[in-house]
Amino acid sequence: MCEMNLKNENLYYIGGVVRDELLGKESFDIDLTYQGNAIEFAQTLPDAEILQINEPFGTVKIKLDGEEIDIASTRSEIYPQKGHLPKVNNIGCSLKEDILRRDFTINAMAKSTLTGEIIDYTSGLEDLKNKKLRVLHNNSFIDDPTRIVRGLKFSVRFGFELDEHTKKLQDKYLQSINYDMSYKRLKKELVETFNLNLWTAFEKFVNEGIYKLISPQEFTLPQNNLEELIKKYKPTFPWIVYVGLLPDISNLPLTKTEQKIVDDYKKILNQVQNDKNISDFEIYKAFEGVNLETILMLATVNPEITGRYLDKLRHIKPEITGKDLQEIGIAPSPKYSEIFDFILNEKLKNPALNKTQEIELVKKFYLIP
Ligand code: ATP
Repeated sequence: MCEMNLKNENLYYIGGVVRDELLGKESFDIDLTYQGNAIEFAQTLPDAEILQINEPFGTVKIKLDGEEIDIASTRSEIYPQKGHLPKVNNIGCSLKEDILRRDFTINAMAKSTLTGEIIDYTSGLEDLKNKKLRVLHNNSFIDDPTRIVRGLKFSVRFGFELDEHTKKLQDKYLQSINYDMSYKRLKKELVETFNLNLWTAFEKFVNEGIYKLISPQEFTLPQNNLEELIKKYKPTFPWIVYVGLLPDISNLPLTKTEQKIVDDYKKILNQVQNDKNISDFEIYKAFEGVNLETILMLATVNPEITGRYLDKLRHIKPEITGKDLQEIGIAPSPKYSEIFDFILNEKLKNPALNKTQEIELVKKFYLIP
């Protein structure tokens, strides 16, 4: 962990950063909590420049020795509406109360900035040693079902398992999901989890019924392992290649591009599934203008066709242009697209065709002597 110059008996590293240090892993966010009011604390620091204050959450951003540091006040939370953002209940509460609002014991440890002592009220250290994920109370998933996806993320990232009681609580929640939840938060966790690109995550997601958090419609694990394909072709949004396969993800707030990826998948699915004798030209046309993510999703139903397109067909492009057609005396008209398709079809059959040969073919078939 990168040690800071700022030390105080009430200032603690907290959550993921402490967990990662104990696991010997690098952490990118340094979360700091001040037991008491962090804003008032920051105002007492003579050398700190206050950059930003968020009064309702009791958080403050400061600049100290050229470094930007976020400090949160200890706070307790309540969930007036289960599954939605909690309300801040008490800013400046005890460190223990702040810790008890957290998701898993391994994320509920603090480390004193002054003495380096680890504060562990919930036996997080023992769970870390035993590679267990344990929630802090029985209502944890009811309050915030996104914790189920966080559990999945940590289990695949660290190779941990849910402890027996936590697994029972998860199963119980998944039997009676409250769909009135914040899908924005759920999506954030899904993106982080599936961008790890681990097939084991998808196996657990499907086999343990976690996918039902998005929609109750049944889904079974596809046969094709997407992990290798994603590694090979490197799509921009790996997560959607997994999650987009579910029959209904309309609960998730999608960007325009993500929505297009899913809509195109549904549109092309039948054709790719049923047309066994689909020609190279038809494959090319079906996948033209479609995102790589959609094609990788389709690989779960017909890897032969998608592989042929990605490795071979998509690199084939006619060289002839509209200008060439005009030069040989064909005036611009809707006929152009028919001509381009004709050349494309020829080129797919014989990728070695050069531009002169393409022009010759057009002359032969479209210019009546
Ligand atoms: P990552 O390494 O994926 O960022 P993290 O544990 O640091 O993991 P953050 O989302 O940055 O995750 O959250 C910081 C801390 O806030 C967590 O370690 C945990 O203590 C707490 N936390 C985050 N999300 C929740 C949640 N949904 N419910 C309860 N506590 C949470």
